[in-house]
Order: sequence, then C-alpha cells, then structure tokens
Amino acid sequence: MKALFLDDVGQLALRETARPEPGPHDLLVRVEACGICGTDRHLYLGEFPAKPPVTLGHEFSGVIEAIGEHVSGFAPGMRVTGDPNIACGRCPECHRGRVNLCHNLQAIGIHRNGGFAEFVILPETQAFVLPQTLDSLHGAFCEPLACCLHGVDLAEIKPGASVIVIGGGVIGLLVVQLARLAGATDVVLVTRSESKRRLAENLGATATLDPSSGDVIDRTVGAQGVIAGGADVVFECAGLTETVEQAPHLARRGGTVILLGVLPQGTTVAFSPFDLLFREVRVIPSFLNPFTHARAAALIASGTVKVAELVSRTIRLDDAAEAISHPAGNGEIRVLVVP
Ligand code: NAP
Ligand code: ZN
Repeated sequence: MKALFLDDVGQLALRETARPEPGPHDLLVRVEACGICGTDRHLYLGEFPAKPPVTLGHEFSGVIEAIGEHVSGFAPGMRVTGDPNIACGRCPECHRGRVNLCHNLQAIGIHRNGGFAEFVILPETQAFVLPQTLDSLHGAFCEPLACCLHGVDLAEIKPGASVIVIGGGVIGLLVVQLARLAGATDVVLVTRSESKRRLAENLGATATLDPSSGDVIDRTVGAQGVIAGGADVVFECAGLTETVEQAPHLARRGGTVILLGVLPQGTTVAFSPFDLLFREVRVIPSFLNPFTHARAAALIASGTVKVAELVSRTIRLDDAAEAISHPAGNGEIRVLVVP
C-alpha cells in the first residue's frame, strides 16, 4: 500500500509499504478521508515531537477491511471513525478518569502509523461506527469535534448564555455550532477572514467581527459592544499570544475562558491576577477529547453539526507532503487527503 512517512524533521516521503496485519484486537481500516491539521505541520517542522519514521494523520475515518480474531462488535464493510488518542488505562491519571492526561498517551498519527495511507490499524477500543449513508469525507471531522466537545463540556454553557469565540478555523467554527446547540443565544465569532465570518453566520453565529478593523475588546464588550459587559464564556481558538491575552478581557464578571488554542512550548503571556481575582474569571485549558468521541460521531452521523462547509478541498496522497509542509491557504478551513 501507499503511505506517507515522516522520516525525520522536515522529511516527508510517500512510499510503497507492506499492508499492515491487524492484531487480535485491531481493525484494518481502508482510509476514506484524513484531515490535515495544524499539528501535522508542527510535527513536520519538529515543533512537536513525533516518533519517526511514522505515518502522520490523526483525523481519519474509513471502512473496515479486516478484523483481528478477537474483535467483537465490528465487521468488514462497516464505516468507522478512529479516536487516535490511546490512554494506557493503568497510570494514576487514567485511574482518576483523566485519560487525556495519561502519562503514557500514544496517538495514532504521531507515535503509531496514522491515516495518510491507504490503510490504518485501529484498535477496537478506539473505533466508533458511522452510518453507511454518511458522506465519506465527514467522518474525518469527528476528532476535532471531539476536542471541541471537551471544551464545551468544561464551559458549562447554560441556555441563554452569551459566548465569544476567537478564531474561525475548524475548531472555532465547530465551537460556534456546539455553543448554539448548548443553548447560547448570543454567539460572536472574531476572525479576520471575510469568508469565514460569512460561513460562521450560516452555521449559527449571531454576530461576527473582524479583529483587524478596530479594538476587539471595545467592539465586543464595551458599552456599545455586541455583548456589552462581557460574555459568560470566551473560547480562545486562534492559538496566538495576542488572542490569549485578549480572552479574559472579553469575559464578564464570574465568566469563563476556555483555552483550546495551542501555543508553541515555552511561550508565555501576560495576564493580571488582580483582574482575574476581583472579577473571578476562570481560565480553563481544554486538552484533547476524553470520552467525547462517541458523541462527536453521533453529532456528525445525525447531521446535527454541519461539516460539509468546512471541507476546503480534497487532495490525493501524492500531493499530501506538499500540503502538510506549507501553511494553509488564505480562507482555507480543512484540506482532506483522500487516498
Ligand atoms: P486554524 O485554522 O489555524 O484556526 C485559527 C484561526 O484563527 C485561523 O483560521 C485565523 O483565521 C484565526 N485568527 C488568526 N489571527 C486572529 C486574530 N488576531 N483574532 C482572531 N482570529 C484570528 O486552526 P484550527 O484547526 O481551527 O485550530 C485552532 C487552534 O486549536 C490551534 O492552535 C490548534 O492547535 C488548536 N487545537 C487544540 C485542540 C485541543 O485539544 N485543545 C485540538 C485541536 C486543535 P482568520 O484568518 O480568519 O483570522
Ligand atoms: Zn494512563
């Protein structure tokens, strides 16, 4: 089969390799689609450690080709999505139910071979069934959606709440939809690209704002702002120093900031403990997808969360190295590899 290998930092190569054999508790999945995520580029650049040589790709779905001898509940021909994050089940954090903080976390597409290949091995514990009728591209959005669900769970949005989302990439556009589903009546997305703002309005944002055309804090939560006085919940989904520093200022007294964006290791930001304390603003980081993948699959399978609009283009495996090694194009949301 064809697979794209990260051989070392900055070195991607498409090669013929033996089709993997499923172990007793594994599924062999024919990949239908695998999303290119910012993390893949960080892995390529060595900004995030991988375990080369390894096939990248952690946002995948496909059809079961074969199953290991002890697999139950799955059969060849079923469409599945994979939760790439494998917890050990036996470290102190796993025993506390905090599987995303597992001391021995292994990820498909980072430490084990992933979805930028014709076939991928998926342990049965990581597989979730999708409908046969689902568009073959849509299952690739379960993983990012599962991460957003964790953030939305931590935010404890109440019906009638006000929400500000910073950053209109895949994560921000999924959070906009989840915030509306959770009952928020005001959902404001802040992002620079005009096309992403229009799309967000179609997906449920009640207002959008371009951060480059004036003071964001004043226009969102100032006296004349769209959510004057501050939002109940602010989601940081851009992953920039500037936007992380902005986020607490957009929250109301007693409000919550959820940090979803990933900044390079070692980056520090400035915040005012006095302001956080006296306004009792909670700042909560949200990491990965603990126990949220099944709900993500259900939301996509039922069409409750819209993902067709988030597909910017599809490419073949032959063009994947080029796409991973370059920043996403202007206005692009998700590029999917269709092997
Ligand atoms: P992305 O496409 O890079 O989205 C970030 C968006 O922020 C960009 O699309 C950009 O859109 C917008 N942006 C840039 N400057 C801005 C500014 N000054 N104000 C407001 N928006 C601005 O990435 P993504 O895939 O959606 O992921 C978002 C972040 O979440 C990344 O840092 C990613 O690593 C992280 N992430 C975290 C988890 C987790 O478990 N916590 C999981 C997946 C991803 P415009 O060009 O329109 O401004
Ligand atoms: Zn563990």
